[in-house]
Amino acid sequence: MARVLKDVKRTPNRRAIPRSKQSTAFPSLAAAKRGRTKAWKQDFHRRLLAWYAVHRRDLPWRATSDPYAIWVSEIMLQQTQVATVIPYFARFLSAFPDVRALAEAREQDVLRLWEGLGYYRRARQMHKAARIIAEEHQGNFPREFDHVRKLPGIGRYTAAAIVSIAFDTPAAILEANTARLFARLSAFRDDTAGPEGRRVLWQFAEELLPDRDAGTFNQALMELGSLVCSPRAPQCEDCPVHMLCPTFQGGLQESIPAPKAKPQMEAVREASVVVWRRSKVLVRKREAGERWAGMWDFPRFPLTARRQPAVDLELAAKIEELVGIVAEPGDLITTIKHGVTRFRITLECYAAQYVSTKRRRPRGDESLMWLDLDQLAEVPLSTSARKLSRLLLP
Ligand code: SF4
Repeated sequence: MARVLKDVKRTPNRRAIPRSKQSTAFPSLAAAKRGRTKAWKQDFHRRLLAWYAVHRRDLPWRATSDPYAIWVSEIMLQQTQVATVIPYFARFLSAFPDVRALAEAREQDVLRLWEGLGYYRRARQMHKAARIIAEEHQGNFPREFDHVRKLPGIGRYTAAAIVSIAFDTPAAILEANTARLFARLSAFRDDTAGPEGRRVLWQFAEELLPDRDAGTFNQALMELGSLVCSPRAPQCEDCPVHMLCPTFQGGLQESIPAPKAKPQMEAVREASVVVWRRSKVLVRKREAGERWAGMWDFPRFPLTARRQPAVDLELAAKIEELVGIVAEPGDLITTIKHGVTRFRITLECYAAQYVSTKRRRPRGDESLMWLDLDQLAEVPLSTSARKLSRLLLP
């Protein structure tokens, strides 16, 4: 198990290194680059790997060199915390232990295991990629960077992470943790997400990459970025490379990388309606292009009316428009507040009674289902729909 990191001061502190070793002026990018000599890189590698050997977390995907498992972990970890991913990773690997099992699974079952992780496109893309691997690579995960990169949902970073960790291919990485770490180590003060920032930081990553054991090196970089070189209040005094870091020497941890503008949040109001037909409720599969595409949900739409009877009229009209069913709106069940990207959503959840079917669906259309409450457990629901479904249980 990883040793618990010491409690550290939460503010940058130049006193951590002897004054004689501190630079008096913050170096320019060019000066910082000149300073990265061969000896600097060797020192950096040695210090980083020694630190990683002691502090690395014992994460389930680190116990394997199976490219499939590493791929699953990398996709799950995109935009998602390690602690959240751990149980999902275990359940996913247990249900789909290899590429073929994933390729043969129904999309619905893949999404059910992904439910709650968000960004469901990741799961759909993985499923598609598994089918391509099964068909075009006989079920063997490709070893070549270029072949991996061509798979749906796999970009430059993910391809490099997989081939370096699984096959020890020297491929440089750049993701959120390493972008921040590299910006600080290279004294890069501009936007790390813009085209110039990406170019400079990818170049830095390539420069730093060792010829051997790239997988361990890449994991060590990400671990340092995640555990020590955090976005706010990095723990520089515990950082194994602080004597090599111009940002620490300049006391500029708060301004590198350049702070991003916070997205403007927009408040929206929506309704979700549980339409009852005797003991069954209506669910609708969310279409491509909608939020949570491929997941099931109760009929849901924007709501503008504020008072009765206007609310009931709007609910009835929108249910009919969305699913072709005439329903009589009833009571408010609950209100759920949640955020999606830049939207702060207030979701009013209503009950309604089925009256009649206004619009017949074409043959083969499987976008609507009437389910008993216990059947809801078997389908992938949006997070808010899952919350609402729990309130319906006796
Ligand atoms: S010294 Fe501080 S800013 Fe520099 S790499 Fe280490 S944690 Fe990051």
